[in-house]
Amino acid sequence: MTDFESINKLTSQSFKQQKGLIKRVLNGKPSQCAECKQPLELVLPEDQKAKSSGIYCKKGCTDIELELDAVNK
Ligand SMILES: [Zn+2]
Repeated sequence: MTDFESINKLTSQSFKQQKGLIKRVLNGKPSQCAECKQPLELVLPEDQKAKSSGIYCKKGCTDIELELDAVNK
């Protein structure tokens, strides 16, 4: 549970929004950054090069690092 608890330090509202967004992206549904409206890019551990796994937009206003152990449950 420690991974989940560390993520949960975000405010509960943004945590909720983030969870919904992560779910959509992981389900392969096209999603846009709320700030810049650019398509979000999902980076998984297997294609990760420089950055950690997570969800990013091109401009960098969406930058969600994923704890995949927690997300996959
Ligand atoms: Zn953006």
